[in-house]
Amino acid sequence: MNTLRIMVTGGAGFLGSHLCDALLAEGHAVTAVDNLLTGRRGNIEHLRNDSRFEFLEHDICQPFDYGRVDYVFNFASPASPVDYSEHGIETLQVGSLGTFNALELARKYEARFLMASTSECYGDPEEHPQKETYWGHVNPIGPRSVYDEAKRFSEAATVAYRRYHQLDAKLARIFNTYGPRMQINDGRVVPNFMKQALRGEDLTVYGDGKQTRSFCYVTDEIDGLLRLAWSKEPGPVNIGNPREFTILECAQKVLAVTGSKSQIRYEPLPADDPKQRRPDITKARTLLGWEPRVDLESGLKMSLDYFRGAVAALATTRA
Ligand code: NAD
Ligand code: UDP
Repeated sequence: MNTLRIMVTGGAGFLGSHLCDALLAEGHAVTAVDNLLTGRRGNIEHLRNDSRFEFLEHDICQPFDYGRVDYVFNFASPASPVDYSEHGIETLQVGSLGTFNALELARKYEARFLMASTSECYGDPEEHPQKETYWGHVNPIGPRSVYDEAKRFSEAATVAYRRYHQLDAKLARIFNTYGPRMQINDGRVVPNFMKQALRGEDLTVYGDGKQTRSFCYVTDEIDGLLRLAWSKEPGPVNIGNPREFTILECAQKVLAVTGSKSQIRYEPLPADDPKQRRPDITKARTLLGWEPRVDLESGLKMSLDYFRGAVAALATTRA
């Protein structure tokens, strides 16, 4: 593969930083653009001395052009329900203005483009498992709408640039992904449960815990995204782990992996919380030859050291 100059928006975030690592490992030059709204410099600190890597602190809602690029991976956006509730307007802006600016950059340099879309485009799905052909069941005015509609808009914009400007643009629909570098306080279920278990606090299960999610370990996710990126397939393609767990089962896995004696405490289910989610990955399997390899227990074990460190760092900050 030729060496490309690749831009990763949201490159200081959880997935964006792992993507930067993987692209550098493939031999490319990588520019991460991030305004650090929900990301951290610490996620890319280890790349500081790599001459093929640069970091630019920039809000992609403002137009940007730092020279020729061959590929744009558009990952900038708050992603956890807690983050996008707190930053609702910013989430709508980055999904609309930010996506336009990223698409315009790709158009200017005739670069390829991959949009980090989401299973949230399916909303609280009435089709199960979710295939890419499903149009979704989204409340346009509910608490999740700032994220869901921003991402649906991003999908429409990406497809429009493909249709009207012949941009080589792709859509990946990412399902719940976890692993090292997730923010310990972003409220998502894996960091919440890990933090609570490691501190001996109750695990907060929302609702009756029977709602389901399908958890993909970060290395599997990045592998799937890169296979899509280098393929001729425009998507949308679901990239996620098809093994489905109830949230209660997830809590039990975290307790087993951490060896914690924490109890489970039930709390109210947030409004519009999807009742079930599982990707149909037939497309990814057949078109990309991809399927996830890491099961939930192994992925949690591989994340344990990171979460231990993050919990210890929290204690130091507070002390
Ligand atoms: P994250 O919050 O760790 O990363 C998002 C990054 O985007 C952060 O570094 C943040 O500072 C940056 N950002 C936000 N607004 C910006 C702006 N206006 N300009 C520049 N940078 C901005 O979240 P993540 O889990 O790594 O998610 C990355 C992408 O993947 C998001 O687009 C998210 O919607 C998508 N996604 C993630 C998951 C998942 O399970 N992790 C699932 C579906 C989709
Ligand atoms: N959840 C929970 N306890 C927590 C955090 C989340 O029971 O401390 C539930 C949440 O209600 C949802 C699921 O776990 O049903 C996944 O939540 P997350 O915020 O990780 O992502 P979502 O898939 O909802 O975007």
